[in-house]
Amino acid sequence: MAKKGRVFSGARPTGRQHLGNYLGAIKNYVALQDEYECVYCIVDLHALTTVETTKDLRQNTYDMALDWLAAGIRPEESIMFVQSHVPQVTELHMYLSMVTPLGKLTDLPTFKEKVRQQESNVNYGLVGYPVLMSADIVLYKTDLVPVGVDQAPHIEFAREAVRSFNHRYGTNVLKEPKMKNTEIPKVLGIDGVQKMGKSLNNHIEIASTPDETRQRVLQMVTDPARMKRTDPGNPDVCNVYTMHKIFSSPDEVEMVNVECRRAGIGCVDCKKLLAANMNKNLEPFRAKREEMAKSPDTVWDVLHDGAKRARTIAEATMEEVREAIQLPK
Ligand code: SF4
Repeated sequence: MAKKGRVFSGARPTGRQHLGNYLGAIKNYVALQDEYECVYCIVDLHALTTVETTKDLRQNTYDMALDWLAAGIRPEESIMFVQSHVPQVTELHMYLSMVTPLGKLTDLPTFKEKVRQQESNVNYGLVGYPVLMSADIVLYKTDLVPVGVDQAPHIEFAREAVRSFNHRYGTNVLKEPKMKNTEIPKVLGIDGVQKMGKSLNNHIEIASTPDETRQRVLQMVTDPARMKRTDPGNPDVCNVYTMHKIFSSPDEVEMVNVECRRAGIGCVDCKKLLAANMNKNLEPFRAKREEMAKSPDTVWDVLHDGAKRARTIAEATMEEVREAIQLPK
């Protein structure tokens, strides 16, 4: 089937993936492959703007790639690679930085937030982060970037960078990407309050063993008003119920909805049911991951092959870009 266009998405190398990554991004990555030519990038250079140490960078890149592949990214169709393996992106970043007003970068709410988070390390790369992100997208002549509404300003930033570049050099070599508005579910952590994330240690890794998963699910915070087993609960305020809606059958979801409200089911049993369904759902992924993990070189081969294909597209774009700027040959 002819593909509808090229999609690009990037994610920082955060290592073994958790349910928030899986439900919020990876499942969508996998589904998009059916209709689009997909370019998926592990953005290690972006990670350098904030990480304190790079000692885990390679392992995190490998672990993340392994999870993506085991979850269903098809490397024979999609291009999956590491950002720093395509040096053309840093070159384009440089040219785009020349058409980006500094004030526009320092005014961005995301930049201000980062400054608050790492006051002592406000580096040049951090300021220019959206320019590098624009280069990531534009380098591959991307048609669509799948993002939630809260990410829309980033895509608009890239579109403006393209317009500025094309206007400055009287060209149309760079293509304005469009936003593919995507429903990105906000997955709460086991604390039931904050978004699931490793730094908060409120996450459940998708590659955990069934027993580890069960232990984490048993730690999940439930309806805080339900103090005793005999108290009726309210599933609408309980993250366990939210997860049931993702992992359990419609009949089980309805049973929890009814029985929780009349104290017909206890939270421990409710969680055990969820953990069992979660484990069942993740079983094919875990089996594939275990198999692939036996030959780590295969994962690196996929990334290197992806980078090779990405460099071909990137170099073609850069030849046009250098020509448009009229850089000396
Ligand atoms: S029974 Fe289930 S849905 Fe109800 S409060 Fe307990 S864990 Fe949450």
